[in-house]
Amino acid sequence: MAPGSSSGHDRRRSLPSVDELLRDPRLGPLLERHGRPPLLRHLRRRLAELRAAEGDDVAQALLALPDELGRRLEEAAAPSLRRVINATGVVVHTNLGRAPLSPAAAGRVAALAAGYSNLELDLASGARGEREGHAERRLRDLLGAEAALVVNNNAAAVLLAVNTLAQGRDVLVSRGELVEIGGSFRIPEMLGKSGATLREVGTTNRTRLADYEAARDERCALVLRVHPSNFEIVGYTEAPTRAELVAFAQRAGLPLVEDLGSGRIGPLPAQLAGEPSAEESLAAGVDVVTFSGDKLLGGPQAGLVVGRGGPLRAMRQNPLYRALRVDKMTLAALDAVLLAHQSGRAEEEVPVARMLARGVESIRAAAAAVADAVRARGPALVLSLEDGTSAVGGGAAPSAALPTVLLALRHPDRSPDELAAALRAGAMPVVARISEGRVVLDLRTVAAEEEAELVEALVAVAT
Ligand SMILES: *Cc1c(COP(=O)(O)O)cnc(C)c1O
Repeated sequence: MAPGSSSGHDRRRSLPSVDELLRDPRLGPLLERHGRPPLLRHLRRRLAELRAAEGDDVAQALLALPDELGRRLEEAAAPSLRRVINATGVVVHTNLGRAPLSPAAAGRVAALAAGYSNLELDLASGARGEREGHAERRLRDLLGAEAALVVNNNAAAVLLAVNTLAQGRDVLVSRGELVEIGGSFRIPEMLGKSGATLREVGTTNRTRLADYEAARDERCALVLRVHPSNFEIVGYTEAPTRAELVAFAQRAGLPLVEDLGSGRIGPLPAQLAGEPSAEESLAAGVDVVTFSGDKLLGGPQAGLVVGRGGPLRAMRQNPLYRALRVDKMTLAALDAVLLAHQSGRAEEEVPVARMLARGVESIRAAAAAVADAVRARGPALVLSLEDGTSAVGGGAAPSAALPTVLLALRHPDRSPDELAAALRAGAMPVVARISEGRVVLDLRTVAAEEEAELVEALVAVAT
């Protein structure tokens, strides 16, 4: 049909009505599967498109209508947020949801989420209770803290601490700690939003106690120490120790807040021994310590604040706390994870702790078993095992490399990028690494229960 030979009026007349189309028996299965409201919505939308389109073959489009609607309805019904297999070997992978929860933690979430709970009710007296009390009890016991508070994430914890303790006044921060953590969390910008003024101390590579002394005046309200996270300064460097900074803050009569980032709790593999622990920080005399719930702790997304009663009470009374507090599902998961740490069972129960502690022989055995299972199905993939390293992720110990065994893949007809894309696009998406022009899988971060799914995913992309 030549352009312009069919007026919009003709095309509208040649389209059947919604009611007529709904009588088409070919739409019966779609009605059954998806229900009437979504089918109507997509049918109306498609008809509007056909009415508006220039030069489309309407008869052809109507013939293809059931297939087209079926495709759109499937796409609309599929969840956007899905489980994936993390074969990158990066244990705390922010893009992949950071810490997987233990079955115990996930079970507590499911049990509490589906019903009512004593979130803010004291069961003994029937009076109103405090939602913070549930996690605080365990954090005090575990870390020897006077008080504890839980907010939405560590960024919120730092924001709340600085806003509460230094709004309208100055905060001393070493220039070497003015970092960007990723996901647009930048210490200078966050301080700006908290209503405090940043006072930079020292230089990027060297900051001495004397620099803090020199910067301090009556406008200062707070000293902030920040874990430099996924960034290391090497070479000609200097920074006061935590103990020196505590002594300075006490002399100056200023509270000291430390953002630990990952916040180790309990023992970790030797490569991570340098990661600061919340317990050490509190014992050294830091007033307020903040860290993430879903990094090395291995729990839900949360910001944990532990420290002295005075500043924490002030933070709890800050109206901003009301906007940053967590939901019952977070508290349920956190409770189970803290209990595992409290009872010394984190390495058995908490997936992040287990993956970090996993020995190279266990990873080699898993990689070999997966390779054998795929080979037995006879596809065209070439699989080989080689030594490599896994990363912790989440900004903890950025240069720590955990020894691992990698499963390298080659496909005769597909480039590494195509192979990695096919793995992501499968029924169970698999996220792999591309290294030196090959796709590699690191089974450190693949749970034993996921290995069969991984085999199916590999067989599916191998044909
Ligand atoms: C990760 C990190 C943050 C941000 O923590 P979230 O829980 O992601 O908000 C802040 N500070 C440091 C040092 C970090 O490593």
